[in-house]
Amino acid sequence: MGDTAKRRVGIMGGTFDPIHIGHLILAECAYEQFQLETVQFLPSGNPPHKADREDGAADEERLDMVSLAIRDNPHFSLDAEEMRRTGLSYTSDTLTALRERHPDAAYYFIIGADSLLSFDSWHEPESISRNCVLLAAVRNGFSVSEMERKMKELHKCYGTEIHLLHTPYMDISSTDLRDRIREGRSLRYYVPDAVREYIEKKGIYSETF
Ligand code: ATP
Ligand code: MG
Repeated sequence: MGDTAKRRVGIMGGTFDPIHIGHLILAECAYEQFQLETVQFLPSGNPPHKADREDGAADEERLDMVSLAIRDNPHFSLDAEEMRRTGLSYTSDTLTALRERHPDAAYYFIIGADSLLSFDSWHEPESISRNCVLLAAVRNGFSVSEMERKMKELHKCYGTEIHLLHTPYMDISSTDLRDRIREGRSLRYYVPDAVREYIEKKGIYSETF
């Protein structure tokens, strides 16, 4: 992208239902390995692939949990832009708007391997590829060679610039955490303490049996 003089800004997008240490470690690894100035957490409003979430937290609760999780990290921040928008929220629209508003910034969008492998099904992959670099981490048993194959394919199709993000393999997902809560099991160490206390206090995820 020829962006050497630009501010290097990471974007950690997700449903964060709830946010967990996998997201936080991913963002911190990206910050370190790609000399990012900051990482903005961008909770999705109403993501097309999760349009019928039933057992999820309210938007305000997901926002609160992200705030609590990142509050002690000075280079993390929260961007509530997608949440404020009504209707479906697309990463391509958000990135286009960010680039227009901040032409001095180069964006690095942080994802796990499952998101990389499904990138073709995202709305307007070409537009996303024009507006950011993707940083992809291992996940869900996808091998690095499988990821590299996909990276080449996406580069060929859409010109996507993608780099591997080196992280520990973290077998943790929000879906598993929601199941743990319904089964009355502990979330301790899977999420920051403040997030665990918030979930317990508000009884989130536990009502729908
Ligand atoms: P859910 O189970 O509800 O889909 P999730 O744990 O996958 O939740 P998301 O909010 O969907 O969390 O994920 C946001 C981004 O973070 C995605 O790109 C996803 O691939 C990545 N991610 C989440 N957890 C991990 C993990 N443990 N390791 C690597 N990447 C992860
Ligand atoms: Mg997910």
